[in-house]
Amino acid sequence: MRLPFLFALIWLGLTALASAQENAQLKIGGGTIDISFDPPPSAPLRQLVLDWIATAARAVTTYYTKYPVPHVAIAVSFHDGEGVDSGRAFGWEHAHISISVGSATTAADFADDWTMTHEMVHLAFPSVPRSHHWIEEGLAVYVEPIARARSGDLTPQKVWGDMVDAMPQGLPKANDRGLDFTHTWGRTYWGGALYCLLADVEIRKRTGNRMGLEDAVRGIQKSGGSIEVEWPLERALEAADQAVGVSVLEDLYNRMRATPVSPDLDQLWKELGVERQGKTVVFDDTAPLAAIRRAITEPQSKG
Ligand SMILES: [Zn+2]
Repeated sequence: MRLPFLFALIWLGLTALASAQENAQLKIGGGTIDISFDPPPSAPLRQLVLDWIATAARAVTTYYTKYPVPHVAIAVSFHDGEGVDSGRAFGWEHAHISISVGSATTAADFADDWTMTHEMVHLAFPSVPRSHHWIEEGLAVYVEPIARARSGDLTPQKVWGDMVDAMPQGLPKANDRGLDFTHTWGRTYWGGALYCLLADVEIRKRTGNRMGLEDAVRGIQKSGGSIEVEWPLERALEAADQAVGVSVLEDLYNRMRATPVSPDLDQLWKELGVERQGKTVVFDDTAPLAAIRRAITEPQSKG
């Protein structure tokens, strides 16, 4: 009886050891991140993936002041080649993210990648009905580069240059309706991001630049909002507006939900003091909203 029992113990021990090597756990910003790999990667690739996940987790923690959920499970699969794709965030039953990593992905590729941070931003916002999918994607598109700039992983020039280049994709095209009614890729991802940019600037204008969109979305977090709960959109916007003390998100939603709104982006970049000059971006610190632009992408000191 003793020997088989001992064998069983050894076998159990080895199995536990094997799965411990395939899985990993990170604790960042008060959140526990359980990572599973399928199939198990090489040791160097495994370390690159863990560093990449930790960097993204620190960026969203900087933006939200804490990790958006107490626990998330991240399932990492692998494909041939370079780069990251198929990132998805889910709240059903519990917060989880699935993502596919190319087995030839380099440290530089991971440093350039936006998807892991994007998926983690999704964890912070409640699941809302399908017609409002633009706010889920728009917030992730808008917050991702700003969170990475705040944590020192992207320069403000890169963030604003990309915004100048990409934001026009969110403007309504001929026959487009408001954000709740036109569900094209451009209106969903960049129309939603445009809503967030306009809200961020407006909150800062109305609060003397003391508060921004991050304070509004932290208010949603404090009210118990996360991907794990289903809320009507109005409840999330109300919690956000209450946190900053000005009714910006609700008013802007009422303006943009059913009507195609086309703000003058060139004028907005000028007021923010952002000018695209070929491949570089030049900031004008004498522009009327320069302080607001600086506050949005200023790196935070790491505490
Ligand atoms: Zn997304």
